[in-house]
Amino acid sequence: MAQIAVLDELKANRKGRELPGGHMAWRTDFIARKKEDPDGPVAFLAESSPKRVLRTHYHECDQFQIIALGGGTLAKHTLAFGGIHFSRAYTPYGPITNGDQGIGFITLRAKRDPAGGAMFIPEKAETLKSVKNRTPWQVTEMPTFKALAGGESSSVVQFKEMQDDRGLAGYAVTVSANTKVAAPAPTQVGQYIIVTKGSLLTQGQEKKGMAVIWVGGDETPFELHAGAEGLEVVVLNFPREELTPSKSVTAKANGEFKAWQCVLCAVVYDEAAGMPEHGIPPGTRWADVPENFGCPDCDAKKSDFELIEF
Ligand SMILES: [Zn+2]
Repeated sequence: MAQIAVLDELKANRKGRELPGGHMAWRTDFIARKKEDPDGPVAFLAESSPKRVLRTHYHECDQFQIIALGGGTLAKHTLAFGGIHFSRAYTPYGPITNGDQGIGFITLRAKRDPAGGAMFIPEKAETLKSVKNRTPWQVTEMPTFKALAGGESSSVVQFKEMQDDRGLAGYAVTVSANTKVAAPAPTQVGQYIIVTKGSLLTQGQEKKGMAVIWVGGDETPFELHAGAEGLEVVVLNFPREELTPSKSVTAKANGEFKAWQCVLCAVVYDEAAGMPEHGIPPGTRWADVPENFGCPDCDAKKSDFELIEF
């Protein structure tokens, strides 16, 4: 049976703790670890105060994170409200620098992190590199909801970037008022549904505001029943867990140009393409990339990149 947690009903559970440098962090459990299923799904809202910096780290499980409050930056990327980050197990990401409003992420895992917490870089870099056949990869996507045309009961927009050959998928679903539709089916690992707007009718009650729903891999598609204001949800399907040699290299041999890859998080620097979004024009040779270059996803150093042999 699906587990449903509504933020407004959980506010009394918000726990704060002091961090070094005068910062604060708060945690609100949506789906807490259970005694009878200690390795089962875990979902929580993690908030922290403005300007706090969370160093680059990885986890030993796949996870989604949705920005539910405020914003900031992840390495060289902007983290905006509503944006969703997916990271495979053993993929470092960060540092995360909170903006002026602080930041709140809902972290969503299909199972408990075997490591028990963040594994920080550089301390755990050698441990990370010793993991056999890891396939590091991460992606950020901003969901786009499609407005309903007259008479349309629902719309589904699949995420463009957040998909892989293991079943990873995301969907932005809009449901018109007082209408029932089945959500996209979960993968065998399971699925989270996050209510971002409107209200959900379930078990004879109307649930308003942000809610998180866990649908296990053996369950039937969840029934999305919209209340009087309609409903918008994000559906996030976990990929199958496989440790197989990486197929995530997207660069191709391109004449004289070469490609270099971050040994920590697998980002590729392709000389032909450059990284114009980070100020490096197409055609810039690796030798000409500034020595203070940092990986756009995990902040690794230029010396942490290796030449890809095609
Ligand atoms: Zn990297």
